[in-house]
Amino acid sequence: MRSLKDLEFWFVTGSQPLYGDDAIQACIKHADDMISKMNEFGLPCKIVNKGVVTCTEEITKVMKEVNYCDACAGVIIFAHTFSPSKMWIKGLVELNKPLLHLHTQYNKEIPYDTMDMDFMNLNQSAHGDRETGFIASRLRMNRKVVMGHWEDPEVTKRIAAWMRSAAGVVLGKELKICRFGDNMRYVGVTEGDKVEVEIKLGWECNTYAVGNLAKAIDACTEEEVDAKMAEYTSKYDMNTDNIDSVRYQARCEIAMEKFFAENDFSAFTNTFQDLVGMRQLPGIATQNLMAKGIGYGGEGDWKTAALDTIMKKMAEGLPGGTAFMEDYTLNLIPGNELIMGAHMLEVDPCVAATKPKIEVHELGIGGKEPPARLVFDGKSGKGITCSLVDMGGRLRLICCDVEAVPCPKPTPNLPVAKCTWKPLPDLQTAAECWIYAGGAHHTVLSFDLTAEQMEDYADMCGIEFVHIGPETNMRQFKQDLMLKDVAYKIKGIL
Ligand code: MN
Repeated sequence: MRSLKDLEFWFVTGSQPLYGDDAIQACIKHADDMISKMNEFGLPCKIVNKGVVTCTEEITKVMKEVNYCDACAGVIIFAHTFSPSKMWIKGLVELNKPLLHLHTQYNKEIPYDTMDMDFMNLNQSAHGDRETGFIASRLRMNRKVVMGHWEDPEVTKRIAAWMRSAAGVVLGKELKICRFGDNMRYVGVTEGDKVEVEIKLGWECNTYAVGNLAKAIDACTEEEVDAKMAEYTSKYDMNTDNIDSVRYQARCEIAMEKFFAENDFSAFTNTFQDLVGMRQLPGIATQNLMAKGIGYGGEGDWKTAALDTIMKKMAEGLPGGTAFMEDYTLNLIPGNELIMGAHMLEVDPCVAATKPKIEVHELGIGGKEPPARLVFDGKSGKGITCSLVDMGGRLRLICCDVEAVPCPKPTPNLPVAKCTWKPLPDLQTAAECWIYAGGAHHTVLSFDLTAEQMEDYADMCGIEFVHIGPETNMRQFKQDLMLKDVAYKIKGIL
């Protein structure tokens, strides 16, 4: 699976031949200026100038090239001058990659004293971009519209944020999930239609025998295990005498790492109910793989595993951290309501605020040996939690704004890593909305991505998005859920 640095976005400037060659040359120069300036901003992916298009044939040709160029993750369009939008129909109908419509203008301030009609003709995106906007709306295209002057850092920041969402869409088509075992028995929310997910999101999910993994674990050499142990002790503090348990975890990681690399898997699941031939449930093995960008979902939760990978890709290079999480226990003391998130082992050290310690403790369920795991406290700061659920006939992505806070007190008897946070607007409203929306206990927590980016991602994939944030009002939220249900039912009929 590729990463953000392998991708680029094409910039296509719209015009028409009516203004003469001088005007077209000016458009070309303006687009060059704009693109070089925006690239200097430090975008996650480069913008490539694909020139000025002035007729149906040119627009259709470039959109077909967008589709077939693997490096191109999407297209940014701007109607510099009036670009009659029937010229765009065939091209936009062909386009199968993310689209951003940048509504900007080369000139920033109206030059009242000097302006003439030549100036007006070269600065008329106020109506050019509306013409382009109409045809995209008429075609019911899911696209992003960003408005503002191209030199404004806020505009470039929004383009950068959208690029990450678009990259998530494109990279999703390369995502392969490895499942060891099925879901935890009887669990509903981790189920889902794998065919629908592959159609909408591109994610491939297939199962592999845990017995074969067990054989690969046993086949690891002592030298390989020594090297993995050196990796563990260089990153984490050893806080156990049970080195044998840690070495078994090292074997688990080595075996999975090889298998994933050979098969290009970048997400995986397992379940404590299917560990045939294995001595332990992978703990630190899974945690260390997650820290390297491999997505994970516990108890067979393949949707969350894949969402974890995609959100990690979208957040590539950012400092906050994006991690598989589980809403675990609540503090319901008025004025200090919060959620403590954790998992029975598998919390991703990329959200650690303290240096993780390697510890070995009994696992209450599963009947296997006590596994080594990383124990730490999570970071503080603004973030989001996301959950993807299958509503039967459609997928719904639920996103809640959160504020992670330091754990109020030490937890000396808790043998797992944890994060504590307050959801917005408040725990009661957020949790009630989350439950009405059918959100899972498993989530992906990100300190790098925003609800707007997840909404863009969902829109581009054509799946439902619901947001719980500071403005959320319960009555409005329930009404939105009802209206979306109706809308998707009608879409299904059409
Ligand atoms: Mn779980």
